[in-house]
Parts: sequence; C-alpha cells; structure tokens
Amino acid sequence: MTEPIQCFTPNSDPNKEQKIADAAALIATAKHLVFFTGAGISTESGIPDFRGPEGVWTLRDQGKKSKRKISLATAQPNSGHFAIRQLQELGLLKLLITQNTDNLHPRSGIHPDLLVQLHGNSMLMKCLNCNTFYDRKTIGWDMKKFGKGYRSQKIIPGQPRCPKCLGRIISSIINFGDPMPEDEMDIAMEHSEKADVFVVVGSSLCVAPAYHYPEEAINKIPAAKLILINLGETPFDDCATIHISAKSGETLEKIVTKVTSILKERDHPK
Ligand SMILES: [Zn+2]
Repeated sequence: MTEPIQCFTPNSDPNKEQKIADAAALIATAKHLVFFTGAGISTESGIPDFRGPEGVWTLRDQGKKSKRKISLATAQPNSGHFAIRQLQELGLLKLLITQNTDNLHPRSGIHPDLLVQLHGNSMLMKCLNCNTFYDRKTIGWDMKKFGKGYRSQKIIPGQPRCPKCLGRIISSIINFGDPMPEDEMDIAMEHSEKADVFVVVGSSLCVAPAYHYPEEAINKIPAAKLILINLGETPFDDCATIHISAKSGETLEKIVTKVTSILKERDHPK
C-alpha cells in the first residue's frame, strides 16, 4: 500500500514572508487591481469550502460528511474580508469578484459598485425582469410561506412581485443548471481584461467561469501579475507570479499592512 499523497501544505512555505512582501509591492503599485475570491476566504469564518482540506467535496470523496461549524446567519467576516475592504479604503481596489454567496464581503463594507457576486447572495432576492436586487425582508419574502424562491421553484400564489415592474422575484442564488448572470459576468470580464494585478484568494479555479477571469487578465496584458493565495493546487500554479500556500486571513492582513506602509512612505518620504 502506498502512502497517501499530501496535497495540502498549509503554512509550510519557507519563502512565505518574502512572497508576502513581494505581493504587497505589486499591489501597492497596481493601476488596476482586481480580486477574485472563492469559498476558501470564508473557512476562517467557519463556513466550509469545497476542495480545501476540510472541504465539502474533499470529505465527500473520503466518504465523510462536512459538519458546518456555524450558520450563515451568525458567521462574521474575518480578517481576510476586512483586509480587502482596507484596499478599497486605500483606493486601490477596482473590482472584487466573488463566487461566495455568504454575504460576508458586503458585510465587511465592500461598496456594491466594487463587488460582483457571480453566484448571487443568500440574503438577496432579485427581479427576473429588471434585475433589481432586494433584501429578502424589504421585499416581504417570507421563507416559511414561499420557500427559498429558487428559479426552478413553482410560483406560489401571493408571493411578492417586483415593486418597480411587477416582474417575478427569485432568489439571487445561482444553482447548478441556472443560467449565469450576464451583467455580472460582463463587468467581471471587463475588469479582468484591464487588470495589471489579479489576486485570487481561496479558489481552486477548477470550475467555469471562475478560471476565465485570471486567464483573461494574463492573456490581455502579458505583463499582468497573478497572485494566488490558496490552500491546495490550482491549474494556474505554474503561471502565477506569486503563489502563497497559506490561510488567507493572516496572509492578507500582513500583505495589506505592508501595502499601507509602502503607500505612506511614498506619500510622505522621510
Ligand atoms: Zn423588476
């Protein structure tokens, strides 16, 4: 019997501190900085990811079940979410694309105009006709009466309609088999094409459309820098400028602290 392959090497990178410094230098001088986050950024908030060491699919492949440590309603943004928000405050972040539906980026204070939630948001409903988003409570969507309101669900008499156009209201969550949201995908692609620094956090980049965005960044601007902060492998490991195999919260916090110092030094040289 052979030894199992060790796929994950959390925090074992001997060059991690140097890579963090290099990543900070690239981010501090970025002209068009785009972030892309997957489920890995929320594991430190107690929400399991898919392909990480304790991921839902990793455990399923081992015949085990994932036990969610915390409910979505009580999960809090972690230092990784707040570090990205700090890049927004510094005026560096041009767009954050996320695959996550956990509402933790909006709750960390990311401006809606700087955020594309590719797979929707568990707290939001949207009009199928005019694409306006609504908070579930504001629109009067009672989940006990009307369920989750997925696109595939039958319309229930009395369910709220869009106040603007009377269109059908559905959950903003994109499930398998649902069409991807075109507007959000267009914005994500437009910014990926312009990105000179593209940072991927906590995504295995194995599923479309996730991998199209870093691919687009590298293809459009040959000098574009790709930074990966991820536990586990991605198909982009070989073409990444910097690959940090570590937990995202602490890593991003360190990077952003260094970015802040670089900017201070630049604006107020000693
Ligand atoms: Zn509408």
